[in-house]
Amino acid sequence: PAAMPDQEMRYRRSITDIPATSVGPRRVARRAEIGETFHGTPDSDPALPVNREWAARAVAAGAPTLTSPHLGSVEAVDEVVERAKGAHAGWAGRPAAERAAVLRQAARELDGRREQLLAVMAAEAGKTAAEGDPEISEAADFAAYYADRALELEDGPMTDGARFTPSPVTLVTPPWNFPVAIPIGGVLAALAAGSAVVIKPAPQTPGCVEVAAEALHAAGVPADVLQVVRTDEDEVGQHLIAHRDVHTVVLTGASETAELFAGWRSGREGGARVYGETSGKNALVVTPSADLDLAVADLVSSAFGHAGQKCSAASLGILVGSVASSERFRRQLVDAVRSIAVGYPVDLSTRMGPVIEAPQGKLLRALTTLEPGETWLVEPKQLDDSGRLWSPGLKDGVAPGSFFHLTEVFGPVLGLMRADSLDEALELQNATAYGLTGGIHSLDAQEVQEWTERVEVGNAYVNRHITGAIVERQSFGGWKSSSVGPGAKAGGPSYVAQLGTWAPEGLPT
Ligand code: GLU
Repeated sequence: PAAMPDQEMRYRRSITDIPATSVGPRRVARRAEIGETFHGTPDSDPALPVNREWAARAVAAGAPTLTSPHLGSVEAVDEVVERAKGAHAGWAGRPAAERAAVLRQAARELDGRREQLLAVMAAEAGKTAAEGDPEISEAADFAAYYADRALELEDGPMTDGARFTPSPVTLVTPPWNFPVAIPIGGVLAALAAGSAVVIKPAPQTPGCVEVAAEALHAAGVPADVLQVVRTDEDEVGQHLIAHRDVHTVVLTGASETAELFAGWRSGREGGARVYGETSGKNALVVTPSADLDLAVADLVSSAFGHAGQKCSAASLGILVGSVASSERFRRQLVDAVRSIAVGYPVDLSTRMGPVIEAPQGKLLRALTTLEPGETWLVEPKQLDDSGRLWSPGLKDGVAPGSFFHLTEVFGPVLGLMRADSLDEALELQNATAYGLTGGIHSLDAQEVQEWTERVEVGNAYVNRHITGAIVERQSFGGWKSSSVGPGAKAGGPSYVAQLGTWAPEGLPT
């Protein structure tokens, strides 16, 4: 039907210099409240006055004792899914206005648990308060934004001529890198649709999800409508993911995980219904017309925020023409990278925290190996015996088609490439299998326009850092291998509407 909510989509770009709207973005409001200017500022700023007190209390509090059940058998999984199935009709049957009110209250409850959430994020994920704080606002933004989408679904133009039936049971399988905003964003979208939700937190960050889920329960989400469960990545987990009564899976994680899940769920009526956002290999292009000071700041914040452990992180800086040969630019960049204070979040001067576990595989290779043509401008160093604490790395001379050009490494390394022209820069930027985020620093309108039209990413940012998408203003998601499913973007107009089925009015779904 014409009303199928599939139009937003992977080809839609988010450009940043849209004027701030009055809507949502608690996250933007919060930035104003804490004295951070929005445009052009790093995601995390060590000078934020704000988080210091909280952070101190946060780290003192540590991680909570887990209370969610650890499912040890397929029978236990069946029971959880059965409970969700049983709870679905009651939740979906409530007027959208009621569900929306619960979601709005959830935003307030999340806001009210900032300290506690920061504490758990620091303890479980090594997340600094400056990174965690906006993430909590983002979760609250999702709540308010998806509440509006719930109302729209009930009686907005989108339902014209088609009937929406929510996914009865939605499973959310989030990552550890945004341990509050991503899990809770997925949950809130499914709740807005009218789904009952089971969430299986990433094994590294279950406490973050438990605290956030508590906020939702306190807001009035019934216990069986939102269940937090833990399983290991064994046949019990697989049973949950492939479960015949789990209608939809919302996933954020590596492309390989998405493929695995889709395989487990293939052959089902209606398709695998694994929706989500996966890996990225993101670049920020700097042209000679750019404000180079800003470009340095944005490269550094995009590459090293949360130690580079963001799907959106800048892994490549593509320097065009004279930028590539500018000694001043290089010196500034090297100084900026060297100046990053690395440590654990307990130390409040820490700007970059540890990586989630001692690096292995691709990340270890990126941190310890130079490929042909590469040199270290700043060589990363392992700083303690845990293996988790690394100083940031900056490498020059990344060659087209090389390992570092094309592979997502998910850690604190930025590689520089050179291009003779914008044309060549776009070629390098579009050469990867992924298409999540990308940026350009340029003050030349024609250049910006050309780049915007040709860059193959879901979130294209102009003269800004390339992480930290704002709900509604910059709905988040990619194309190419960065996305599974129809490609509706998180925090965008169609995200909730994909979590169900559509049929012409009067026909059974
Ligand atoms: N939404 C986050 C951002 O815009 C990235 C999420 C992710 O890493 O998956 O930076």
